[in-house]
Amino acid sequence: MALESCDIGLIGLAVMGQNLILNMNDHGFKVGVFNRTVSKVDRFLANEAKGTQVVGAHSLEEFVKLLKKPRAVMLLVQAGKPVDDFIDSLIPLLDKGDIIIDGGNSEFDDSTRRFERCQAAGLLFVGSGVSGGEEGARHGPSLMPGGHPDAWPRIRPIFQAVCAKVDGQPCCDWVGEGGAGHFVKMVHNGIEYGDMQLICEAYHLMKEVCGLSNDEMADVFTRWNNGDLNSFLIEITADILRHRDDDGKHTVDKILDCAGQKGTGKWTVVTSLHAGTPLTLIAEAVFARHLSRYKAERQRAAATLPGPSAAPPRPADPAAFIEDIHQALYASKIVSYAQGYMLMQTQSAQTGWKLNLGGIALMWRGGCIIRSQFLGRIKTAFERNPELDSLLLDPFFSGVMRQANDGWRRCLAAAVTAGVPCPAFSAALSFYDGFRCGRLPASLLQAQRDYFGAHQYELMDQPGKFVHTNWTGRG
Ligand code: NAP
Repeated sequence: MALESCDIGLIGLAVMGQNLILNMNDHGFKVGVFNRTVSKVDRFLANEAKGTQVVGAHSLEEFVKLLKKPRAVMLLVQAGKPVDDFIDSLIPLLDKGDIIIDGGNSEFDDSTRRFERCQAAGLLFVGSGVSGGEEGARHGPSLMPGGHPDAWPRIRPIFQAVCAKVDGQPCCDWVGEGGAGHFVKMVHNGIEYGDMQLICEAYHLMKEVCGLSNDEMADVFTRWNNGDLNSFLIEITADILRHRDDDGKHTVDKILDCAGQKGTGKWTVVTSLHAGTPLTLIAEAVFARHLSRYKAERQRAAATLPGPSAAPPRPADPAAFIEDIHQALYASKIVSYAQGYMLMQTQSAQTGWKLNLGGIALMWRGGCIIRSQFLGRIKTAFERNPELDSLLLDPFFSGVMRQANDGWRRCLAAAVTAGVPCPAFSAALSFYDGFRCGRLPASLLQAQRDYFGAHQYELMDQPGKFVHTNWTGRG
């Protein structure tokens, strides 16, 4: 056994671990591997890893001896207790300055806690978002590492070699401190919920308001994919709409309209509620999935509850209406990312994680579900102004909003008239109108709070001065 010869150690020989190990091996890194069920180590070496320079260990003690110092150990095991158990077992075996990386789908609060636990033991903890599933792990994932910054120079060559690349740039950079890596991965998943819901609303409008066939809609999405909206999700939507089963019928028309979810969108929204940021679009995207589950109730309601009294006529100029939908989708997507960035900026300020805001957009440009060209614009916006308060205030994005403004509003007006639900388009426009409103009715709200609860209100012309009014004149 070649002691201290491996560049990195990886624990967890399920689908993600195996693929990432082979990816690392392809890039010339020597990987030491271990798995709880030790027989899987030998099976992996004899099969998938045959002919590679991967080295296996049959105990954790043997495993750590394989690794070059300072050691870097990556865990790709089931999220939750298995991660804590492995950290507990590794701490006595590692030396000060060694690194533990958790690449699983951990909650960021757990990563924050593990960061502190490792710090107390003199170890450097990294929680890394890994996106792109099995295929990404094998050929180039989006990697979002965060935690102890001293770990980054040691793991950077490996992470930036194995990750996805766009225009020659790695889809991996240092995200920030503490639990930042898994936090950013969570926000990425929330944004994925928003992007998917927006595309579904565009589909619904084209279908119900314009009467387009699946093939016609597929052509629209293909066209959009060649422009501003170029992205993996738009591309696969075109493929899905074109797909027919052996009976010649479109597959999408046979699928039950009840959406599933694994909870990452919910975490993002709950986090935004704790942070006090208006993540309205992703919240609506999560709720839209919830509403879809009420299939029986929706079917009963469809037979009894009225919609618009007269079915609106088809748009006189369908091409112009489709362009309005395009504008609504583009503008809403920008609002969604602006909201996601508000959450990240607030969390960064509240925790001191120093999130790498521009770099995060680049990490999402490849290797993950939300990959799109548009993300490069976000990086440019933060390069132009590292202190940017909101993406909506960047000159490029405010220019897009100006152009999309009228079409977006016409699109939603038509949706309301036709009775087609567009919760994410509407949430985006309401947020946009609220954000650009210099005086909101919150003044009245503050008065109401003061009226019934003596909560006091702040005077506009005397900032910091809070007063109470006796609204009824009674003692
Ligand atoms: P997984 O099915 O989530 O986990 C299997 C691995 O965890 C095996 O190595 C297993 O060891 C180990 N394990 C399970 N329970 C354990 C315990 N109580 N103690 C010690 N080890 C335990 O594997 P995966 O699908 O490859 O995913 C790995 C991580 O990446 C997870 O956090 C997952 O959420 C995340 N992830 C997965 C995907 C994906 O597409 N699959 C995508 C992104 C991220 P044994 O072999 O001994 O059972």
